[in-house]
Amino acid sequence: MYYDLHTHTCHSDGTLTAGELLSRAQAGGVRVIAITDHDCTDSLAEAAPIAASLGMSLVPGAEISVTWRAQTLHIVGLRIDTDNIALQAGLTRLRQERDRRAHAIAAKLEKSGVRDALAGAARYASGAVLSRTHFARFLVEGGHVRDMRAAFKEYLGAARPAYVAAQWASLEEAVGWINGAGGQAVIAHPARYRLSSGGMRRLLDEFKAVGGAAIEVISGSHGPEDQTRFAALAKRFDLAASAGSDYHGPEQAWIELGRLPSLPPGCVPVWERWGAH
Ligand code: AMP
Ligand code: MN
Ligand code: MN
Ligand code: MN
Repeated sequence: MYYDLHTHTCHSDGTLTAGELLSRAQAGGVRVIAITDHDCTDSLAEAAPIAASLGMSLVPGAEISVTWRAQTLHIVGLRIDTDNIALQAGLTRLRQERDRRAHAIAAKLEKSGVRDALAGAARYASGAVLSRTHFARFLVEGGHVRDMRAAFKEYLGAARPAYVAAQWASLEEAVGWINGAGGQAVIAHPARYRLSSGGMRRLLDEFKAVGGAAIEVISGSHGPEDQTRFAALAKRFDLAASAGSDYHGPEQAWIELGRLPSLPPGCVPVWERWGAH
């Protein structure tokens, strides 16, 4: 597959630098790549000349944290103008919320007998974003848990002892920031949310009403049944379809770069109106 419209670098919770990510993607056959770090666009300035030198097309993106009906959702923005002031003000607010949450997570870990977790997690973060992924790496490396999965299951996941609810952007704000910056808003990895089929329909209705453009039909975390289900929902709600690996690095990959399947027939690709790449 030629396109990969959802990837992370070490500016958020990926492990590769922009250069390492782009080289690896190119070697895997990716030609058009979006870097979509959580609540941050800092890797894009560094990535742009590298992508140009590799002959790849770089789509400026971000994965925005959203709270919708007490649930966390991720909305990917594609082809955003990273100089847009309202967008950057929104992302700054979300990173401040991440910092507040990180202190609260560390305090809860302390109560569970894990000391100095804030400094520990910060050692794994090379950019401005502090993620639960960094706490998870710290817990694994410190021998507190066996692996990343266990870190979320035993400490960091919803309702676990070190879980802290965050107040992210509203759906309308996130889509508004993306559209205001000239981009397209995409619901990331829709199969990962705990929603009934009625809940999913309400989400898609609301997303469409506030100006959302597409959903990830192909995601690194989707199985074949998810692809079929979300292809049908995209069609029904008149949304375009996107494809992204959600790559975070070689040690925690759902799928290797360049191995995404094609969009199912009948989908309208989100890149259809982008022109030649
Ligand atoms: P945050 O946005 O800081 O709350 O962290 C969410 C990130 O944690 C996601 O983007 C994933 O990269 C990672 N994550 C969530 N659940 C798991 C899990 N069960 N195992 C490994 N990583 C996870
Ligand atoms: Mn992540
Ligand atoms: Mn996500
Ligand atoms: Mn992601």
